[in-house]
This record gives sequence, C-alpha cells and structure tokens, in this order.
Amino acid sequence: MVLRVLEELHNSQNVNLQTTKNLDYSKFFCLFTIFILFFILFIGENILKKNCFLILIFIFLTSCFNINKTNYLIDSVIFIDPGHGGNDNGTSYLDVFEDELNLKLSTILYEMILDDGGICYLSRVSDYDLSSMYAKNHKIEDLKKRVQYIDSLNTTLFISLHLNYYSSSKVNGIQVFYQKQNQESKELAIFLQDILNVENQRKKQCKVGDYFILNNTTSLGVLIEYGFLSSEYDRQRLLDDNYLNHLAKLIKSSISEYLKNKLKY
Ligand SMILES: [Zn+2]
Repeated sequence: MVLRVLEELHNSQNVNLQTTKNLDYSKFFCLFTIFILFFILFIGENILKKNCFLILIFIFLTSCFNINKTNYLIDSVIFIDPGHGGNDNGTSYLDVFEDELNLKLSTILYEMILDDGGICYLSRVSDYDLSSMYAKNHKIEDLKKRVQYIDSLNTTLFISLHLNYYSSSKVNGIQVFYQKQNQESKELAIFLQDILNVENQRKKQCKVGDYFILNNTTSLGVLIEYGFLSSEYDRQRLLDDNYLNHLAKLIKSSISEYLKNKLKY
C-alpha cells in the first residue's frame, strides 16, 4: 500500500504542462468600444458623431495593419522534449549537466510559445525521468513514455532538445536530426538548420538521426543537438542566460516561420 502510494506520487510528477489559451479580453473590450462608438454615431450630437467617425476609421486602419502580424503558432500543438532527467544526466562537463540545460532551454521556449498563444507541452518540468519506480529498464520506459505522450497529443510538431559531446574540443555548433524516411521531418530539419546555422561558426547540414524518439514517433518532429558540452566556445555560450533566451527565440520564430510556409495562410 505504501509502495503503491509512493508509485502514484512518483507518477504524479510525470504530468505534462499544457497551455490553455488565455481568454483574450482585449478583443471583447475592443468590440464593446466599437459598439459604443456606433451607438453614439447614431444618436449623438453632430460634434460627437464626427469624433466617433474618426475613431472608427483609426480602429479600421489599425486592424488592417495587424492582419500582417498573424501568429502562426496559434492553434498549433508544439511538444518540447527536454532530453534525459533523473538519474540520466545525459552528457556532462565537470559540473555542467546536459539534462539541466535541456530543461532550462525547453522551459524558456515553452514560455515563449505560450506567450505567443500556442498550445505547448513539456515531457518533463523538473529533474526526473518518466519511468515508473518498478521499471525493469528505466531508460527504455522513459523514452517509450515520451514517444507515447508525443503521439497521443495531436502534436503538430515536436522538438527534442539535447547536447552533444565529441573527443575534439574544437568541434562545436548546432545540428538538427530528422526521422529516417520521413520527408516532412527532413524538410523541417533543413528549414531549422538553415536558420540555426547563423549561430554556427561553420555551417552544418542536418542529418538522419538514429535516436529512439525519432525512430519511434509517428508525429512530425526533429531532435536538435544545440551545442557541444565538449567545446569551450559552446559551453561559455550555453551557460549564459542571454544566449539561451536568444536561442529559444530563434527556435520559436523558426517554428512559427515553418508553420507559416506549411500551412500557407
Ligand atoms: Zn542527450
């Protein structure tokens, strides 16, 4: 019984964060204002009618300009997967751990997508893995749960975030990996890699990735190795919150731009 409660407590941590789009009260307020203006226009004095007419023209012109600022994240479901967690730290360099940086970048990205009105999920919100405490193989169960979440949430696209490590400290940069034999995933990877290359000292090509998440999901998605912990250059940047914010913004705008092209609004 105690064990069962403990298991339930453990499992309760594995709840994905989900956005619910905030009600846009500004739209209600705007419509109410327009209604009042029309009301005055019909029954008000001449001087009031003239002012109302000018205000209505101003509102009309402002809304025309706003049409071009359509947000392509709205109504899309973006799943962010911060790699590793719990006992699995991923790669590391001294006291810099991949799972911590993955979570940090993912959370920033998650907040940005929410702020832009998108629907977003995170596979974890703290330092744990998704396996149950009795799992025979925690790593595999963790990965299977991530796949299950991604594919069960009507995901428009998912991004799995990881860090790389190489024997030579000179190798650095961001690389995007896509699902084998998935043309759409390849197109997404090419698109993202092209934009993310602005952060790379040398341009990189996206590649087919032999990762559990990519091999087993049916949803569209890519895995981004957003730097090398083995590289001094990358480490310095990754430990700077301003850079992580900048990178999250770049990934978010790339996703938005991709959706714009894909959905052809
Ligand atoms: Zn990793």
